[in-house]
Amino acid sequence: MEDSKFNKAYMYPNPTSPNAPIVFNPEKCDGCNKCIDFCRADCLHPNPEPGKPPIMLYPDECWFGGCCVGACPIPGANRMDYPMNQRISWKRKDTGELMRMGMRNPPPPNTKPPCV
Ligand code: SF4
Ligand code: SF4
Repeated sequence: MEDSKFNKAYMYPNPTSPNAPIVFNPEKCDGCNKCIDFCRADCLHPNPEPGKPPIMLYPDECWFGGCCVGACPIPGANRMDYPMNQRISWKRKDTGELMRMGMRNPPPPNTKPPCV
């Protein structure tokens, strides 16, 4: 069984989902894979090519919490790409502040982003 084809596993992105929850900037991302370590849903996997951005293998299992973006040490190397139904913002009537789901620095009273 050692050289059998059954000893190999092939993975490829789930083709059924139209979403790309995380967008990587290959110009900035150095493939450190820190974002993968922070993904609790194991959506992301290392790129077989060292130094290249991770691969979003299971986009339909993403929680859109943004831990992967928050964990990235390089600004702009990755970003969330929320689906249309999550691109909703709220405006506080008295102050005019705008807030949205998953924002990095939400105003009081809930000042912590979901994954911190
Ligand atoms: S947003 Fe959360 S669940 Fe989605 S890829 Fe990033 S860390 Fe994983
Ligand atoms: S997006 Fe950021 S954390 Fe993820 S591999 Fe690239 S540089 Fe590292």
